[in-house]
Amino acid sequence: MSVFARRSWVEVSLGQISANFDALRELTGPGVEVMPVVKADAYRHGAVEVSRTLEGRGARWLAVSSVEEGAALRDAGIEARILVMADFLPGEREALIEYRLTPVIHSLDDVRAWDALASARQAAPAAYHLKIDSGMGRLGTRAGAGEIAETVRACTHARLEGLMTHFASAADYVGGQTEEQVRTFEEIRAGLAGLGIAPEFAHLSSSIPVAYARREAWGRMVRPGHAIYGYVSPTVRGAGPQRLLQVKPALSWKAAVLAVKNIPAGARVGYGGMFRAPAPMRIGVLAAGYADGIPHRLSNRGRVIAGGKPAAILGAVSMDLTTIDLTSAPHLKPGDAVTLLGEEGGVRIDAQQIARVAGTISYSVLCGISARVKRIYV
Ligand SMILES: *Cc1c(COP(=O)(O)O)cnc(C)c1O
Repeated sequence: MSVFARRSWVEVSLGQISANFDALRELTGPGVEVMPVVKADAYRHGAVEVSRTLEGRGARWLAVSSVEEGAALRDAGIEARILVMADFLPGEREALIEYRLTPVIHSLDDVRAWDALASARQAAPAAYHLKIDSGMGRLGTRAGAGEIAETVRACTHARLEGLMTHFASAADYVGGQTEEQVRTFEEIRAGLAGLGIAPEFAHLSSSIPVAYARREAWGRMVRPGHAIYGYVSPTVRGAGPQRLLQVKPALSWKAAVLAVKNIPAGARVGYGGMFRAPAPMRIGVLAAGYADGIPHRLSNRGRVIAGGKPAAILGAVSMDLTTIDLTSAPHLKPGDAVTLLGEEGGVRIDAQQIARVAGTISYSVLCGISARVKRIYV
């Protein structure tokens, strides 16, 4: 056993991740490949363990952001197809081939460069997916079908396996941007088909268009990330369809109590004296702060769960410490755990609630849990 006790840690339920994956497959049906997104260390759930679990459960594809993330999965023995979504730098092309990663390519120049490399390395057929910028205005080609077809046809070793796009406003049923993006994408897809080019996979959907049943955007493959970890935006803008997907968070986050004490009325707590005790009270100091990922914006306004009851964060969240009100959990002592995110005694705090209070998004709360927070699989 380690001499180091845990100061702050997350507990990840691999069983819940499997259940969420099953729910996604059940909803989308047998004709649709569910490709879990395990980028950013699987939204901090641990890319290797999550990928192993999903592969064991039957995932044939996984998606990452970078070549380095893909290579790490290969080094860990993952055999599923791995799609690298967030582009690569010219110096990384060799590694894509070496690690048997499938790139998403975002320009026709890069298609030509990929083909030239595959040809030089005799690595045929070198599959790639091409991303269409259908209106997100970030990565992706804005070329038309004719120009794309010409480039695809000129390739001798690179093989167009997938055509994809990404939505800017998937949860918006008012503005029409998603419908417009689907139209743009379908126009290009039909144009290519008319020219004899029909890649095996078309994919447009992350978690939200799956959960809210934009079936016209499912294609032959979907790319859920957040939903794999148990999160779906609880509402959409406008009169969207009923949410069809039921998933549950797989991660809970705890911190140890380092110290407890009683303070008199009028005592200040933490940097800037932001909190002043209105009456004598009992406080606890937690062994986690913003360096662990607790948003600084939770200072004097966030909550944790202590002894199964909500407990307010008092004063500023500091780098390594956070102070809480122990009025409703006076029995807690050093070494006891409190819940920063998760469920305890029937009280629940999830990443979406934290995000609302902190003025951010649930994705950022999860990805913000820092590397020094230990991970335990349950
Ligand atoms: C991150 C990402 C996803 C997954 O998005 P979620 O909202 O987490 O489901 C899908 N596609 C692309 C291109 C992404 O970058």
